[in-house]
Amino acid sequence: MAGAVSSRGCRRLRSSQIRDLLDTKHCVLFDCDGVIWNGEKAVVGAPEVVSLLKKRGKNVFFVTNNCTRPRESYVQKFSRLGFKGVGQNEILSSAYCSALYLRDVAKVQGKVFVIGGDGMYKELRQAGIPFVGGESDAAGVTISDCPLDSDIKAVLVGYDDKLNFMKLAKACCYLRNPECLFLATDTDPWHPLREGRVIPGSGSLTAALETATDRKATVIGKPSRFMFECIASQFAVDPARSLMVGDRLKTDVLFGASCGVDTVLTLTGVSTLEEAQSYRDSHAPEEQAFVPDYVVDTIADFLPALEDGGTL
Ligand SMILES: [Mg+2]
Repeated sequence: MAGAVSSRGCRRLRSSQIRDLLDTKHCVLFDCDGVIWNGEKAVVGAPEVVSLLKKRGKNVFFVTNNCTRPRESYVQKFSRLGFKGVGQNEILSSAYCSALYLRDVAKVQGKVFVIGGDGMYKELRQAGIPFVGGESDAAGVTISDCPLDSDIKAVLVGYDDKLNFMKLAKACCYLRNPECLFLATDTDPWHPLREGRVIPGSGSLTAALETATDRKATVIGKPSRFMFECIASQFAVDPARSLMVGDRLKTDVLFGASCGVDTVLTLTGVSTLEEAQSYRDSHAPEEQAFVPDYVVDTIADFLPALEDGGTL
């Protein structure tokens, strides 16, 4: 169980054990990248697993730190990759949850300065949050003489593949005001591309601003509990009867542990069994929250338990 994983974390599951585990759960949360798909390829068996879980009456949610798409674009991606009937209300992205946080928790009165892209812009627009970001400055303008917006009440940092020095410098200027909120969609340090290439994630951009401003961002995505609170505010979800399936120990597994939810590490993504075992065997108490309760090679390992009847 989460919170007491040190003595028996990283447990490899056989089919019968998966059935017993799923019997005790009414809600399954999946991370997306590295769990149900990799880029534009569904993990083999993942669409069937999701369909069968729903057929067995489980509530299924997708919790992703990827802020580059609005939820309607995720719905299209699910459909394109062969997942049937996944609705917008089952998808919680860090962009969507950031917009909810600004509207419903911070109740921001004014504009948000955004380091990010279209996925974030669309979710903010749909939530009715005024924002600026992405606009180019006139040629020759520098941070010393560019106009700054006096109505900026929050800076939101996410993945931005058009990041430039001016954006970072403007964010620094806005964050000089201690009343200006400092939010990050997530803290993912990097993301894998094909053939060993990687790209820096939102966490790297946030770290640059944290260093420059000597402030700490409020994190919306995993491992923060906020995504789970968003689900719990709309659906009857019991943490003790929920399961979090992810591929990153420091985001997905820590998120599950923080929410009191049992965790499954799947080995189709970033983190390895060896990393999980080294955290389990570590004597550092703070590293125990990175230890998954269970490990599977792939979520297709759920299939036999779901296909062969039983009491699920
Ligand atoms: Mg992932």
